[in-house]
Amino acid sequence: MAHQVICRDAGNDCDFMVRSENQDELIEMVKMHAKETHDLMYSTDDVKGVMKSA
Ligand SMILES: [Zn+2]
Repeated sequence: MAHQVICRDAGNDCDFMVRSENQDELIEMVKMHAKETHDLMYSTDDVKGVMKSA
């Protein structure tokens, strides 16, 4: 089962979407995007909170 995170679901006006079978990899990709694009530091729990199964 794949996991998906849409940046907009985290409250950002942003169409970034990432999808991966690997949850840990997905979390790292979202954290990196949030830091580089929004200058936000998300915790693992923050990312899990907006993660959906896809
Ligand atoms: Zn974003």
